[in-house]
Amino acid sequence: MYKFRSKQTVFEKARQVKLILLDVDGVLTNGDITYGKLNDDGDPVEIKTFDVHDGYGIVQAFEKGLTVGIITARNSKVVQLRAEELGITDVYQGSFNKIDAYEDVKKKYAVSDNEVAYMGDDLFDLPVLQRAGLSAAPVTARPEVKRKVDYITKASGGKGAVREFIDLIFKAKGLIE
Ligand SMILES: [Mg+2]
Repeated sequence: MYKFRSKQTVFEKARQVKLILLDVDGVLTNGDITYGKLNDDGDPVEIKTFDVHDGYGIVQAFEKGLTVGIITARNSKVVQLRAEELGITDVYQGSFNKIDAYEDVKKKYAVSDNEVAYMGDDLFDLPVLQRAGLSAAPVTARPEVKRKVDYITKASGGKGAVREFIDLIFKAKGLIE
């Protein structure tokens, strides 16, 4: 949904993207945080549901020479597991101040703000959303966030929003039809 910027402007921004950074809860998942029964250590097992289409989009992004990373305020073993499955090595967990993680990963890949895309869904994503060259939110994001981003996906968080965002970047860069 090209709500605040024209399709052309969003495509121009997307064309420059080299690094895609994603929030987890509400972006790579629908935002539910479910606690299951205790594991052998006595810790509750956290259950999150990831979307298979999002996963393949991320795998394709790596294949096409882009880098994908995760910045999340929470800490969860399943996030690490899912990241490993998809080949994501830049996983910043427990990053309530997301700008620090953003600066760190930007420095690692020596990219400028214009070359970074970020998708988030809540208020503490705003500092990064306002810095990244291309910002997006799922349609299920907080309204305060949706008002500030370049692109709002038609798909919901945890249900294809990430794939839609990645496909938009691919299209802008001429990597898919
Ligand atoms: Mg979130």
